[in-house]
Amino acid sequence: MIPFILKDLCVLCGKCVEVCPTQAIVLEKNGIYINEEFCEECGYCASVCLYNAINISFPLSTNKI
Ligand code: SF4
Ligand code: SF4
Repeated sequence: MIPFILKDLCVLCGKCVEVCPTQAIVLEKNGIYINEEFCEECGYCASVCLYNAINISFPLSTNKI
């Protein structure tokens, strides 16, 4: 399952964008979004967000990693 973004909590700091190994996260002035095609469901983005703006459900729905 790809991460779910809580837009109200996001402060657009960009940390999640930096850690995403596949550049699946796009930062725009109105918020971030995740390009599902590139997301490998690693969970790095959720783990670095200090504002709990990204949630990811485990166990993973695929075995891509
Ligand atoms: S790390 Fe969290 S607060 Fe920062 S841009 Fe990503 S979702 Fe938003
Ligand atoms: S789960 Fe991993 S691949 Fe998907 S958006 Fe987050 S950091 Fe990128």
